[in-house]
Amino acid sequence: MKACVFDGRAARVVLDHPEPEVRAGEVRVRVRLAGVCRTDLEIVKGYMNFRGVLGHEFVGVAEGGRHAGRRVVGDINCPCGTCDLCREGLPTHCRRRTVLGIQGRDGVFAEFLALPEANLHPVPDAVADEEAVFAEPLAAAVQIGRQVEFRPGEEVVVLGDGRLGQLVAQVLRAWGVRPTVVGRSPAKLAILAGLGIAAVAEGEARPSAEARVVVECTGSPDGLAMALKFVRPRGIIVLKSTVADTAGLNLAPLVVNEVTVVGSRCGPMGAALEMLARREVQVAPLVTAVYTLDEAPEALRAADRPDAIKVLIRVEPYASGGAQRRPR
Ligand SMILES: [Zn+2]
Ligand SMILES: [Zn+2]
Repeated sequence: MKACVFDGRAARVVLDHPEPEVRAGEVRVRVRLAGVCRTDLEIVKGYMNFRGVLGHEFVGVAEGGRHAGRRVVGDINCPCGTCDLCREGLPTHCRRRTVLGIQGRDGVFAEFLALPEANLHPVPDAVADEEAVFAEPLAAAVQIGRQVEFRPGEEVVVLGDGRLGQLVAQVLRAWGVRPTVVGRSPAKLAILAGLGIAAVAEGEARPSAEARVVVECTGSPDGLAMALKFVRPRGIIVLKSTVADTAGLNLAPLVVNEVTVVGSRCGPMGAALEMLARREVQVAPLVTAVYTLDEAPEALRAADRPDAIKVLIRVEPYASGGAQRRPR
């Protein structure tokens, strides 16, 4: 099958990649649309030790199982089901998990993928492919609400105006919280302002240690240090960036101010799909460009540009053929 494969040096499109092996309990999915994520870019730069088909954000059509013939999205973590953490009900933290396009399992920049049937979520008819493909990052935003209780109308500081910061801000607003996003890109801050969300340039923000909750989505090593300047004593920092580097960071304020740091990763995709179906979150303004699978390496480069928010890869071409590109 056609697939965009990382061989340890470069991402390239090949026509003869083996179709995914479908194990017991798994379903083959024909991919329609995929999204490029920061993690894919990190893999291509060699930060992780993954080889194989790239990508984990997708919407496709299930070819078997109880969702056969329906459009589906899928949880990326594939647990073993038998280790201590799986038995304790923490399958996303399974000690022997494979992760779609990230760890031990071919990803979604390909004609087909395989996932356990239990990982698949049917996409409501009201949700278009271009929206459903956001289910995975949107679920990561929804996860925050499973870890932190918000107070109605309270102001929450969101650090970072990228893909995740944008989604987190919209999700918080849907929950009746007032997000203020602090970011670096005038274009990305303008998108937030256009949606009626408070957006402030980093240079103009005045950290005053007043926020009870700070959500850190900067994707940058100094995000935690920045969050410490915004959070109030006894407050909560939700850490979403996996690149946080505490080397040289003075953690004393964490102790003195009794701040809680909550690490937060993947979330509930069903809840994310419901938010999309209810139109509580708008993702169309976040699509930077759409490429075909043949152009996947170009899509990865486009996603790495500072002005990019979400780059999509159309695997199953439109009836008219080719990709519909919407440069911004
Ligand atoms: Zn992702
Ligand atoms: Zn396990």
